Amino acid sequence: MQDFFKSIPHKFTAQEEALIKRALAFAEKAHAGQKRKSGEPFVNHPIQSAIILGRIFPDTSTIVATILHDITEDTPTTQAQLEKEFGREIAGLVDGVTKLGAVRLRNSKDQFYVENLRKMFIATSKDIRVMLIKLADRLHNMRTIEFIPPEKQVKVANETLEMYAPIANRLGIGAWKDELEDLSFQIVMPKEYEKTKALLEEELESRSKNVKEWEKEFASILRREGIKFNEIRGRVKRIYSLFNKLKKYDNDITKIKDIIALRIIAKSTGDCYAILGIIHKHFQPVPGRVKDFIATPKPNGYESIHTSVFSPAGKVFEVQIRTDLMHEAAERGIAAHWFYEERGKGDILERQPGWVKELHAWQEETANNPDEFLESLKIDFFQDHIFVLTPKGDVKDLPVGASVIDFAFSVHSDLGYYMMGAKVNGRMRKIYDELRQGDVVEILKSKKPAKISRDWFNVAKTSHARAQIRKYLAEHDRGIIGRVRELKLPSLRFFRKR
Ligand code: MN
Repeated sequence: MQDFFKSIPHKFTAQEEALIKRALAFAEKAHAGQKRKSGEPFVNHPIQSAIILGRIFPDTSTIVATILHDITEDTPTTQAQLEKEFGREIAGLVDGVTKLGAVRLRNSKDQFYVENLRKMFIATSKDIRVMLIKLADRLHNMRTIEFIPPEKQVKVANETLEMYAPIANRLGIGAWKDELEDLSFQIVMPKEYEKTKALLEEELESRSKNVKEWEKEFASILRREGIKFNEIRGRVKRIYSLFNKLKKYDNDITKIKDIIALRIIAKSTGDCYAILGIIHKHFQPVPGRVKDFIATPKPNGYESIHTSVFSPAGKVFEVQIRTDLMHEAAERGIAAHWFYEERGKGDILERQPGWVKELHAWQEETANNPDEFLESLKIDFFQDHIFVLTPKGDVKDLPVGASVIDFAFSVHSDLGYYMMGAKVNGRMRKIYDELRQGDVVEILKSKKPAKISRDWFNVAKTSHARAQIRKYLAEHDRGIIGRVRELKLPSLRFFRKR
């Protein structure tokens, strides 16, 4: 337990610490006897996930929910018990994580499908904290992926690359996105990974100075120029990011200007611009490579100044200049915003990146009041859509108010015509029942065609289902009319016209 608190650089109150300790003990008991594929006790997984989460988002409720996130699924403990033990907020987060587990990438690589899946992931979460927990969970699973069978590794890694990494990026959490990408890339495309890695190593060897030496050189230049700074940190380009960039530049590594980048953490925004001037005084800049993301942040909120310069040996490297706050935001995204907001470090609401503002616009609640910031993490991007799942995990995008009937016809018209009932989240439900975000719907088919009535038509919300039902009713009516004619009974037209 002491290790747990040491791993998260945050000062918890005594009350918060007690709650976290209670959750750790609860999880340990609930998961007792369960083992991971690696042979270690299962409870290590939620605990490690909670540490990953806590390091970027040290919110007690979210940490506790992460510690408990696999309990309702993997142990006899129920949702109700969790709620009784830890309250509605935490139990709600755990429930969200469990539901989100149903959103899975299947074989389809169709861009539309993948995009729908990402939307569904966001919409099902309802709360950004649920997404953060799920991402931390996935990151820990990726770090320990070697213990599961190879075919399953590929599946999980694929899903991580297509769904989780882009969402981490969307939330601005660069540190998680980078790690998720590199871990998955190695599994999904092992040959390309090795090739890119070798290329990178070769390129680094050809350079006269390594990252550490550049750090020292820059520090001494800035000191000579009399400008104070917080830190200089070099970084080598990530392998997956290099792989993607190479594709755009005919696989010519000499065209890539940011193989090595030096990050200078400045004391203020003004200093960022001053440092840019000093660098251009000492090193020849590459024309057209100055990018001012402080004046114009990237859509995910990223702020920095980038420039590329020539080394005396004629090699190009990149310099990224940013303040502490900008650096935290680049690594931790929305979590950093919450973090600084919470600690009262100033005008973060004014400095919110565009996409956070967009988030706020998307929801109708006012987020102007700083006290409501956590409340504002609750999201409802797609107010008139719900996303529901087939038992295999395929996503169906339906309008709000859609029923089991709409779902059945959206899968296949035969499924509608032969429907005799449905299970929603494992329970029998009426076909007129309205579906909710994230429901898993299984249609029960009969051998005989269903008795489709006008009521079906009235309940259906989607034009697709209505058209199918109308077609059925028209044919069915013709059938009756035909039989009436065979019996040589008077025409039904009179009644039908009414
Ligand atoms: Mn888990």
